[in-house]
Amino acid sequence: MIDNRSGKGLSFVRRIYLPRTIGLGIGLFSVMAAVAPLQPPTWVWVLMLLNGLAWPHLAYQWARRSAQPYSAEQRNLMLDSLCGGFWAAAMHFNPLPCVTILSMMTMNNVAAGGKRLVIRGLLAQLAGMLLATSLLGTGLQLQPTALQVYACLPMLTLYPLALGWVCYQLAIKLAEHKRRLSALSRTDSLTGLLNHGSWKDLLLLRFQACRQQHTPAVIALIDIDHFKTINDTFGHVVGDCVLRQLSHDLRRNLREDDLAGRYGGDEFCLILPDTDLGQACLVMERLREQVGGYRNPQLPTLRISLSIGLSAYGPALASPEHWLDDADKALYAAKHQGRNQVNFTHGEAAALKLAYPD
Ligand code: GH3
Ligand code: MG
Repeated sequence: MIDNRSGKGLSFVRRIYLPRTIGLGIGLFSVMAAVAPLQPPTWVWVLMLLNGLAWPHLAYQWARRSAQPYSAEQRNLMLDSLCGGFWAAAMHFNPLPCVTILSMMTMNNVAAGGKRLVIRGLLAQLAGMLLATSLLGTGLQLQPTALQVYACLPMLTLYPLALGWVCYQLAIKLAEHKRRLSALSRTDSLTGLLNHGSWKDLLLLRFQACRQQHTPAVIALIDIDHFKTINDTFGHVVGDCVLRQLSHDLRRNLREDDLAGRYGGDEFCLILPDTDLGQACLVMERLREQVGGYRNPQLPTLRISLSIGLSAYGPALASPEHWLDDADKALYAAKHQGRNQVNFTHGEAAALKLAYPD
């Protein structure tokens, strides 16, 4: 839990580093140009240089080494705002540089923490203004000189570019995370095949395609024989290896368009598009023989056999559930006729449709 928070915080700290370095580095020009005519004491110049050039690196190291980098970076952002308010008052509220640095800072706070950070940032800016006023006195300088206008241009052009770049990179990263999460939510974690839900979604799509385009397709339900005995005899770790081995064999025997999933437990499911029953029987017989011939020198008594039920799409099928039910019946028959075989049924779904017309 703590590690996760730190991981999240560290990427946040890294994300802020570049915009802060660029923002404060070029913001220094606008502040120097506005403060210089007011002839402030030397410590103000020192503070200005430290804030513009050293603080971004100091803030980065401070947050990076903190036990909670995320909170440390939020504190740093508040210190940024405090300094922004301080320089606004030190510049005697010269409108162009003031608006430039304060609005860029607020933009940063919106991007980093939304409404909450903006409000806290505005309060910190106010506190900074009060601090500068109490140390340097008050004053107003409402007419910016040409030099002051030019000194603001780098900040006005380069800083939005840097922040936009950071946000764009973040959006790309989020899109990639979303893609990975979505793939994970469709995958069975043990075998890497489709999980039950996503395979059934694809079954519905294939059923509709078969019905509309009058193309053939076969579905298969594959169940490992006496898998419970394999688990009981060799242990669940070996059982898991058998499940992974079967998924590997499935991938090797199938075409790119075939869709393999783990229906649950020791049961697997396939959609074989553009395939007739004869072709499907050949492929499944090959798989059954291959798996039956599997030997492991470390477990010489381990044998694996499969029972497989097939069902071809036919116009009499009323729904994908009826199609699946057909394959289930074929599998059930294979089990009852002695296991280790491929079986298929005809006509059950047609009979069901006659019994329950839609
Ligand atoms: P049958 O020949 O009739 O198919 O018998 P079976 O023993 O294969 O079938 P049964 O449904 O009785 O047992 C399936 C077993 O699969 C029971 C369950 O503990 C085991 N199982 C389910 N999921 C997993 C898994 O992810 N890993 C392992 N190792 N075992 C699992
Ligand atoms: Mg089984």
